[in-house]
Amino acid sequence: MHELSLVDELVATCLQLADGRPVLEVWARCPAGTDMDEVGEYFALLARSGPPGQGSCLERAELRLEQRDVELCCTCGFTGALGPDDIAGHIGVCPVCGRASEIRERLEVVAMSFARAEVAKPNCPGPRDQLP
Ligand SMILES: [Zn+2]
Repeated sequence: MHELSLVDELVATCLQLADGRPVLEVWARCPAGTDMDEVGEYFALLARSGPPGQGSCLERAELRLEQRDVELCCTCGFTGALGPDDIAGHIGVCPVCGRASEIRERLEVVAMSFARAEVAKPNCPGPRDQLP
């Protein structure tokens, strides 16, 4: 269930950035080791079931994920990116001294695209956005 809290945070950030505009796509970076399928599923779930009047602008948003390296700053002095083998869930293992530390994870919004710049009317069925 760890991914759920990350996605919750991501959706909140998206809603804030969207400011009511209908979102088409969200590009986000997730830490290596994140279960991307799970993130996608949670996003779809949360984007469609936001608080009343807020979920609507993410309703049709597609989430595009890219992975980035996880950085670790260890007490032994090691600072750098961890490989997939050094990460288990949200625990990273220092490749120098083997110490396990919790990784601070976050899904970062890289970019978002919006439907036509129209005022969102959550309570009215909108006009067709996609012309044939
Ligand atoms: Zn270390």
